[in-house]
Amino acid sequence: MQLPRIVENSPFARLARTKLGAKNVAMVLGTSIHLSGVSREQFLQDPYWVAHEMEHIRQFRQYGRLGFLARYLRDWMRHGYYNIPFEVEARTAAELNAHLYAQGKPLPSLAERHPSPKVKL
Ligand SMILES: [Zn+2]
Repeated sequence: MQLPRIVENSPFARLARTKLGAKNVAMVLGTSIHLSGVSREQFLQDPYWVAHEMEHIRQFRQYGRLGFLARYLRDWMRHGYYNIPFEVEARTAAELNAHLYAQGKPLPSLAERHPSPKVKL
């Protein structure tokens, strides 16, 4: 499975982390995954999380950088973070596609998985 570029200690991800009040964050910008508070290795150990971010990359491709970001921010204000349609889609894609990123290992249990932030902003 071809993985995108992964940026550790990203200032953009750090900003999102502060905004979300999350311990660690992965976020997609264009075709790269930006991490804060989590190493590349830890991130790749959670195939659900990887599949979630891969869906955002697909969305970025579909709508373009500006199209994606404009919709994302608009929907964040309208619906709150958890109910942004792009996030709902990404959570669904994570369940469907995690097996693609499991690297031959058993899928992690719910307790071992990275939790989605459930904040309402
Ligand atoms: Zn997401």
